[in-house]
Amino acid sequence: MIYLDYSATTPVDKKVLQKMTPYFTEIFANPASIHTSGQTALKAVEDARYKIADLISAHGSEIIFTSGATEANNLALRGILKAAKNKGDQRQEIITSSIEHDSILEPLNYLSKEGYKIIHLPVNKQGLVEISKLQQAINENTILVSLGLVNSEIGSIQPINRFGRMIKKLNQHRYSTWLKTSPRKRGDKPKPIYFHTDATQAFNSLECNVLKLHVDALSLSGHKLYGPKGSGLLFLKRNTPLEALQYGGHQERNLRSGTLNVPGIIGLAEAMVIANKERKNFVNKVSGLRNYFVKKITKLIPQAILTVDLKNVSPTHAHFLFPGVTGDALLVALDELGVAVSTGSACASGDISISHVIRALGYKEALARSALRFTLGKTTNKKELDQAALLTLKAYKKCLNMIR
Ligand code: PMP
Repeated sequence: MIYLDYSATTPVDKKVLQKMTPYFTEIFANPASIHTSGQTALKAVEDARYKIADLISAHGSEIIFTSGATEANNLALRGILKAAKNKGDQRQEIITSSIEHDSILEPLNYLSKEGYKIIHLPVNKQGLVEISKLQQAINENTILVSLGLVNSEIGSIQPINRFGRMIKKLNQHRYSTWLKTSPRKRGDKPKPIYFHTDATQAFNSLECNVLKLHVDALSLSGHKLYGPKGSGLLFLKRNTPLEALQYGGHQERNLRSGTLNVPGIIGLAEAMVIANKERKNFVNKVSGLRNYFVKKITKLIPQAILTVDLKNVSPTHAHFLFPGVTGDALLVALDELGVAVSTGSACASGDISISHVIRALGYKEALARSALRFTLGKTTNKKELDQAALLTLKAYKKCLNMIR
């Protein structure tokens, strides 16, 4: 099997598994227990928390462990709004983009039913949100902006640091204007616009420094970075309001109740340490291989269209449209030939409808249905890619013949 679906999930790194193993069997106590065994587990969790915080330039108290990025995204979006509402914040507008992952779009859809107005910013042909569009959309009623760092389907990298800087400046400007206004005229202190980013697809290739990104909240998931499934985190900047979505045993400073997934947390920390250490080499290696594969496919299949050019795209992603066939048919044909790929995000597969991401790029329906995503990982090599390219040609021809 040639696996080219590393964006859907990655295997657990052997060194990560090794670190995790004792926490299933020997150091298995509940970190909330008072006894020595519990405290040993708690110390390991807290060490992991501070290690992780350090890697993203945060403080340990700003990390909330979750079961993955879906939970982190839900907690960020719904939790911030719930807290703000409870504090009497009347603002009702949330800005996102039309290409976000469903774990952003669905909670926002839910919030729209609660009366919030959701603004889906368009993207350009390269899958990028333009800062001017964001600027135009922001107004006095904007409470939250959520934009993903790397898109899971097409791999486009948003300039989150520029967006963050702009939002921060605006918040500062509003505050200083308020300060300069006479106390009798100025009204309530202006509340900041909160900025969240879903960085789930980013950490292997991009530094996720929360200070440089100027974000208030950031989501990550263990299983996308060679860590275990069921692990993840939400970074939440100090003083950002957040209300829990689930109630129980008061873990994670009462913001995320539930017994901590100790092996998962240990694994997540180790995976992040390794990814951080290997990032430079990983990017060099994988971008070379990805560019090689793109050239190979376009040479073998001249009809293939590279969906977005590679300039602002994650080095792991190669996304094509294959005119005349559907991505689903091609995926199945490739699977029969021993190549694992995806038509989009794993959560959306099995669903024949057109990807909202490809639609947002402006492609017509038939072409949008022909999308296929190849994503590369740490162990991907040239030989696999040569073979995968040839098999893609074979599968494409087969699908075209089936239609004719
Ligand atoms: N956001 C993005 C961008 C993703 O790619 C994914 C996983 N496909 C998620 C969120 C959800 O992550 P998890 O599987 O950890 O819930």
